[in-house]
Amino acid sequence: MPDKKESPCVRCGSCKAHCPFPGFNPVEPFSPRAWMVLIDEYKDNKIEISKRVVELIYSCLLCDACKDRCPSGVDIRQNILWMRKELKDHLYGRALTAMRVLEIFYMSGRMGDIFMRYTGPLKKLFIELLLDKKIKIPKARIKEGIYEGEGKKKKRIFFFTGCLVRYIMHHFGEDLTRLLMRSGFDVIVSHDERCCGAPYESMGLHVEKERLIQFNKDMFSKYNPSEIITLCPTCAMFLRKEGIDILTLNEFIALNQERLIFSKNRDSEFVIHEPCHLRYSLGIDVTLYGDLLKDKGYNVRYMEGGCCGFAGPFAFINKEQGHDMSEKLRNIYIKSGIKNVVTSCPMCILSIKDDDIDVRHIVEVL
Ligand code: SF4
Ligand code: SF4
Repeated sequence: MPDKKESPCVRCGSCKAHCPFPGFNPVEPFSPRAWMVLIDEYKDNKIEISKRVVELIYSCLLCDACKDRCPSGVDIRQNILWMRKELKDHLYGRALTAMRVLEIFYMSGRMGDIFMRYTGPLKKLFIELLLDKKIKIPKARIKEGIYEGEGKKKKRIFFFTGCLVRYIMHHFGEDLTRLLMRSGFDVIVSHDERCCGAPYESMGLHVEKERLIQFNKDMFSKYNPSEIITLCPTCAMFLRKEGIDILTLNEFIALNQERLIFSKNRDSEFVIHEPCHLRYSLGIDVTLYGDLLKDKGYNVRYMEGGCCGFAGPFAFINKEQGHDMSEKLRNIYIKSGIKNVVTSCPMCILSIKDDDIDVRHIVEVL
């Protein structure tokens, strides 16, 4: 990380136009330019860490909408992540709670996994308290195993479930396993899998993050799959950044369009919601798979939406802003007469879905 003398930020403010946060709190301190000023001043020993610094630095969604937008080449997200490492021992309130929950899960290892997998109502209560939202948890659980696909010449696909699919939205995993098997792929699901590490990085917990990455790398080596696939763009963005060759379902669809056997139920029209990490961090254009689905007879529409406001620990730490952002997005869709939204991020689904609007994962309609 360069010191201030090398910091290229010239305070032009171009980043503000792309950042979702100033749209909800349009005052200068809640803008990426102000966060860069804080970080540079901290490196120059001009300011000390305070509650206000924590509040402001934890207002960034880490969404990457500012990626490659700075004329001076500043990577704002990386600067924020660096600063959060510095703030780790100064957290308070909801940010401190979020960090402690992650630490407990990390330390409890297998116990945390057993709790999340087997404690039905208790787990539901725990997650609802954490998310501050009523949620439906399907009964079925992702089962570990190597599932044999149909046909003879098969690739072995490792399905990296990610925590949300693993513990809350198991049915997406079952849909993906079925899709892959009927399309002639073997599928590996392993309970050795650990959190990708993205939430730990976002809270400045770098030791834990590094260990989780190594753990997952060792696991992938053990199974030696032809490809690794996930239903979560945040897991994909994070693991790819760490050198792991992992595909989102969206990319897998585009690469394997001739081989995949899609469902025959293609009646209802849906709008595609683009998750930030898919669009900005991974640079995957919605038309990459949207047009392909249109060609296959799916009734797909595109529409500019925006950030869902979940963003990992963000919605927990910045409860009001997270709620306002998801409400705003829902209203955009509802006012446009849209009842069905399809996306490829479990976090977006948790954030946007409610009684007025159905939001499904793309794997549910394939
Ligand atoms: S980070 Fe880049 S875009 Fe933002 S104020 Fe600084 S120089 Fe301008
Ligand atoms: S990562 Fe997202 S929230 Fe953070 S400064 Fe960039 S655009 Fe704004």
